[in-house]
Amino acid sequence: MDRRKFLETAGLLTAASAGASLLGGCSSGDPLLAGARVDVKESYRCQLLVVGGGPAGVCAAIAAARQGIRTLLVDSGNCLGGMGTKGLVGPFMTCYDAKGERMIIRGLFEEVVDRLVAIGGALHPSGIRQGTEFTAWISEGHDHCTPFDPELLKVVYDHLCKEAGVKVLYHANFVRPIMKGKRICGAVLLTPSGLEAARADMVIDATGDGTVAYRAGAPCVFGDPENGRVQPASLFFRMNNVDTDALVAEVVPHLPEFRRVNGVSYRCLHWRVAEAEAAGEWDLARKSVNIWRSVEKDQWVVNCTRIHGVDATDAENLTAAEEEGRRQVQELMHFFHKYVPGCEKATLMGTGSTMGIRESRHVHGDFILPVQDLIEGVIPDDVILLSANSIDVHGAMGGPAGGLYMPIQKDLYGIPYRVLLPAGVDSLLLAGRCISADSAAAGAIRVMPPAMALGQAAGEAAALSIKAGIQPRELDYADLRAALLAGKVCLV
Ligand SMILES: Cc1cc2nc3c(=O)[nH]c(=O)nc-3n(C[C@H](O)[C@H](O)[C@H](O)COP(=O)(O)OP(=O)(O)OC[C@H]3O[C@@H](n4cnc5c(N)ncnc54)[C@H](O)[C@@H]3O)c2cc1C
Repeated sequence: MDRRKFLETAGLLTAASAGASLLGGCSSGDPLLAGARVDVKESYRCQLLVVGGGPAGVCAAIAAARQGIRTLLVDSGNCLGGMGTKGLVGPFMTCYDAKGERMIIRGLFEEVVDRLVAIGGALHPSGIRQGTEFTAWISEGHDHCTPFDPELLKVVYDHLCKEAGVKVLYHANFVRPIMKGKRICGAVLLTPSGLEAARADMVIDATGDGTVAYRAGAPCVFGDPENGRVQPASLFFRMNNVDTDALVAEVVPHLPEFRRVNGVSYRCLHWRVAEAEAAGEWDLARKSVNIWRSVEKDQWVVNCTRIHGVDATDAENLTAAEEEGRRQVQELMHFFHKYVPGCEKATLMGTGSTMGIRESRHVHGDFILPVQDLIEGVIPDDVILLSANSIDVHGAMGGPAGGLYMPIQKDLYGIPYRVLLPAGVDSLLLAGRCISADSAAAGAIRVMPPAMALGQAAGEAAALSIKAGIQPRELDYADLRAALLAGKVCLV
């Protein structure tokens, strides 16, 4: 649907769309902007505005649009999928319980996987076991991952959004919220057309960094407030032309030596890293590598660069990180070519078009999910999704040390609806990485399958609230539960 059609359908093509100035602060009377063409055009009016088209935002938008809600999904990039496409992150982490017996993240996530499998864009998680080349030979907490092709994932998301009637707008950067008191009622976007206003009854923040909630005044913390630390960032890359049989033959005999000592992982190819280090050809903050076989046999996803102390909310800091990420990719490609059997002729297919950010702001809601609830396997009364993703706080121990790995005590845990509700702001829901959780809990549920389930729940909650004319906080959980079950979400 083109923009004019969308506005016509919505009955909202207004005179203001001709370009009237909306916001006092952006008028040419502002000395900061004097002489500049910065009027804000009143371009869009919808019921739900979803900011951020990552796994959480896409599922939020589809869920709401399927309930008949006029939904606008905006993203600063040129495709949907966020880290899973632009960031080249993969595979989808586990969607099974901790025993590896039951698929517990279903709903829209399963629909995406099934569509990908049908077009050769993913291997179904039922056949993917941990301790194999599909999980970087990691043998705990990684059962039933889903290898996928990021280009085909973009296409699947496009199709699902079109079918649901979601209006998607690319190259649209969220600039600031439009507020009426403590209620958010839209956003100013910077698009190739200039500054544009999108009015909405409700907004979902799926930016990963919680940018909408932060700018709307919700309380936020950066990383772990106890030490000010965030998990390290990683620039992903993919390589092909790998002789996978030779690589597997190199790794498998060493599996019994895989270990973790004082938080440092000595896993895949640690013996080759030691050789490179001895030769002065390795300065990365790690002792082994994470490489994951992808859908095509000769293609591998490389999750190995590690950049500590990155602040994704600071442009200069992030710029420096992007450059360092690219430097590390070159070092890694040299390592693979020179030291790793099967990778002598490997080709760099591409690096993520954005740095992979594991952690930045956490938005605080009325309830902040504590990691202890995940460890103990709490199923809250207002559960919106089940997960068993491990609590793996990368880089928590600093330096070359890897993560703080906390095993969960039960087969799964539940996430409460309350984590989607930012404190102090009305008509706003959170979805994905920025939900209200402490740093370690967020470390477990930030991965893509739970992020998609969080998005689906936020979309359903927004749709129900809009239809009832109430705030998401006032929603009756029984109604949300019924909608989620109807959307094939697993809650028991
Ligand atoms: C290094 C790394 C490794 C990971 N490994 C895995 C893995 O192996 N498996 C797994 O399942 N998960 C993994 N994850 C986690 C997962 O990729 C993310 O946590 C997940 O994608 C979060 O989803 P999201 O929708 O909340 O955010 P994102 O995927 O970050 O999407 C947010 C979207 O919002 C858009 N956006 C942001 N700000 C604005 C703005 N101001 N205006 C408009 N648009 C905006 C962005 O362009 C982006 O498309 C990894 C993450 C990282 C960083």
